[in-house]
This record gives sequence, structure tokens and C-alpha cells, in this order.
Amino acid sequence: MHKRVAVIGAGAAGLFCAGTLAEYGNCSVSIFEKNKVAGKKILITGKGRCNVTNDCTPDEFIRNVPRNGRFLFAAINAFTPRDTIDFFEKHHVPLKTERGRRVFPVSDRASDIRGALADYCKKCEFINKTVTDITLDDGKITGLIAEDVFYEFDCVVICTGGMSYSATGSTGDGYRFATKAGHTIITPMPSLVPMECVEECCRDMMGLSLKNVTLTLNDTENNKKIYEEMGEMLFCHFGISGPLVLSASAHIGRSEKERQGLENGRYTVSIDLKPALDEQVLNNRILSDFEKYKNKNFANALGDLLPSKLIPAVIEKTNIPPMKKVNEITRKERYCLISVLKNFTLTVNGFRPIEEAIVTSGGVKTSEINPRTMESKLVSGLYFAGEVIDVDAYTGGYNLQAAFSTAFLASKAITEQ
Ligand SMILES: Cc1cc2nc3c(=O)[nH]c(=O)nc-3n(C[C@H](O)[C@H](O)[C@H](O)COP(=O)(O)OP(=O)(O)OC[C@H]3O[C@@H](n4cnc5c(N)ncnc54)[C@H](O)[C@@H]3O)c2cc1C
Repeated sequence: MHKRVAVIGAGAAGLFCAGTLAEYGNCSVSIFEKNKVAGKKILITGKGRCNVTNDCTPDEFIRNVPRNGRFLFAAINAFTPRDTIDFFEKHHVPLKTERGRRVFPVSDRASDIRGALADYCKKCEFINKTVTDITLDDGKITGLIAEDVFYEFDCVVICTGGMSYSATGSTGDGYRFATKAGHTIITPMPSLVPMECVEECCRDMMGLSLKNVTLTLNDTENNKKIYEEMGEMLFCHFGISGPLVLSASAHIGRSEKERQGLENGRYTVSIDLKPALDEQVLNNRILSDFEKYKNKNFANALGDLLPSKLIPAVIEKTNIPPMKKVNEITRKERYCLISVLKNFTLTVNGFRPIEEAIVTSGGVKTSEINPRTMESKLVSGLYFAGEVIDVDAYTGGYNLQAAFSTAFLASKAITEQ
């Protein structure tokens, strides 16, 4: 049977879903997009370079999806990271793999990824309208309403994304459509989001980026490490950001209790500023610096060890007077300095708003979606793909991969139905 399919949203999921349907399915495909151009968010991914996937196995992929990763088992096996790489190379976007197996276009241009996806949808009808409602009859989808006009469809795929970076068009409309169909929406929350900290020193260090540090996120209530990784982070006027911080944020803040705890300072971040040096080696290094600067003040003796913006904050945490002569610093004080360098601790007291989050955690409840088809278990002919679903992954290309894999599965199911 020839099917009429509507895809709501021309982001990564919507474009890939529509293009795949047009290529393999016996259907006519209409993409509804509220923005004049498709794929606005893709352009800002990976700082404009687009980390399009991660060159990992499906199992590794699932381990990088902290919320509802198992739900993606069928999707990621049906369309793997390798398939994403092959797809873009076949569509004239050569790719390269960087640290952490992050895959980018060789051109470093996210617009090449968007361009390839837009070209893939050439056979689809692009309707530049905002969808305001979906229509149902007796447990079946019948179509949608866009700017007061009713359009009849056999299948509708909701690819409206989450709620972060809403200027790109992702304003959470899909949650309203899903609710109308009877779906439960897990409260949308920011994930992969910068963290606000109590300590004012962050503001003083604004703009300072630290490479090759180890960041540990601690739950002080349970005395547990909940995340630890080496990489890059950044100080901001409100607290901390950068890849390590964004990834750490995905580990907290889901339940009401965790959210309250977040505000009350339950979580701390400790930064090992010198992860490559154990305490013994660091001690020797400091002894040699102290010998070199023995007649200087403490505040002027750390320039070989630390970036200048970091020195006042480290000194403050040691409680050693900054004007103390280096040759008067005691062994105990030196060990205190080592302890601060290995364990520079900040208290987290909030996330930045969802608007500033890379992804939205929460969305359409996964147990109400068939994981093998992405079809709603409540309304036939209604499908979901991409970030609108209650699935979110770490940084590293996993979120776009989740969008492609779920979109692929939805289009496959519609094609085979
Ligand atoms: C700054 C930033 C950087 C990122 N970098 C990366 C990265 O490098 N790698 C990675 O894997 N992930 C990255 N992500 C996450 C990734 O971009 C998203 O997870 C992914 O784009 C989600 O795709 P989607 O198609 O589900 O939703 P979206 O891309 O949000 O697309 C949804 C589309 O639906 C349209 N829409 C919404 N409502 C309606 C409506 N009512 N009617 C019509 N159209 C509608 C919107 O306008 C939008 O075009 C990044 C995100 C951000 C914000």
C-alpha cells in the first residue's frame, strides 16, 4: 500500500527518517518544519564542527547512554555507528576520527553534515509550517494540523527534539502531541549542562580552560564517586563548563531528591590539577620550584606549575599567606599545597537552565514506545525518533547517533508495515 507519511521536525532525526523513507519506502513523505531552513541545530553541534557519531560498537554505544540505553538496543544494532560513517562517506562527506573515537567531517564544517542530510531528503515535500496538533481516531493517527490546515496522513513521525537551545526550534512541542496521544512525559531536565558552583573563585578564573585534568564528581551524602574522567574543563562566571563538566552533569539531577540535593550542595567536584604526577613526584617538582624561587613570596613561586589565573584560588585553599617567603614554608604547608593541587574542590549548587543544556533528559516515556519499531504502543501509525524520546547520552557523538538510529528504525518499520 502506498503510504502518506508526515515527519514533524527537520532536525537530525527528522531529515534522516524522511530521507530513508523516500529512498526505501513505498510512500510519499512530507516534512513539516517551523524554521525556514532545515537542521538549524546541526549547525551548532560540536562547536560548528559536528561530532556526527562515535566510532564504537553497539554495546559501547549503549554504555554511553546513561538513561534508558537498553531501549536503544534494537535501534543501534539496526543502524550502527559504522553505518552512520558509511552513510556520510557515501553522501560525499569524508570523515575523520579524533580523540575518544569522536567522528567529525574532514572539513570541520557542520554545514556539510546538514547539507548531506538535506540532499538526502530531496524527494520529500518540505512544508515550512509549525505543526500545532496531531489528529487521532479510534486509537489510530489520522493526520496533523499545521497553521490551521488539516493534513491527512497514514503515519506521523514526531521528531521535534527536546527543549534545549530553543532558538533552533526545539521548544518541546512534541511533548504536547505525545500527551494528546495518551503518552507519559518524563519531566524534561537539562543534561550535558554547565554547573553552577558556590565558590566565587570561579568568576575570577572565568575563561580559564584546563586541559588534561581529572575531574571527579562526588556524592557527599553517600560518600561515593559518581563520575571520574580525565580531559578538559573551563571556568565561567557562574561556575564550571567544558566537556568533563557536561559529561559529569548527566550523572545527577533526575529525581526530586537529587535535584534538591543539588541545590543544597550535596555534590562536589574535585579536580586533580596534576593527574600525571603522583604525590611523590609532585612533591619533588615543588621542592625544585621552591629551591628556584626560595627568596620570593609564595604567591610568586607557582608560575611554573600553574596558569596565573589559577594561582590565587589555589593559594586561598592552602591557607598559606601569599606573602610568606618560600624558604619559610613548612613541610606540612607544602603537603597541604599538594593536597589542594590533587584535590581542588568546588561545591556544585545547580545546573544552568535547560536552554543552555546540550541535550534534554526526559521526554516521551520509553516503555510506551515499541523499541523494535519506535511506534507508539498507544496509537497506531504514530512514531517517535530523536531527542523527543526519554533517552539521553554522553558527549562524544552519541546523541546524534541515537537520533539516526531511532529514525532509521521508525522508517524501516513504516516501510515494512
Ligand atoms: C550546542 C550543541 C552542541 C551539540 N553537539 C553535539 C555533537 O557534536 N554531537 C552529538 O551527537 N550531539 C550534539 N548535540 C545534541 C544533538 O544536536 C541533538 O541531540 C540532536 O540534534 C537531536 O536531534 P533531533 O532531530 O531529535 O532534534 P532537533 O535537532 O532539535 O530537531 C527538531 C526539529 O523540529 C522542529 N520542530 C519542533 N517543533 C516543531 C513543530 N511544532 N512544527 C514543525 N517543526 C517543529 C525544530 O524546529 C527542529 O528543527 C549538541 C546540541 C547542542 C545544543
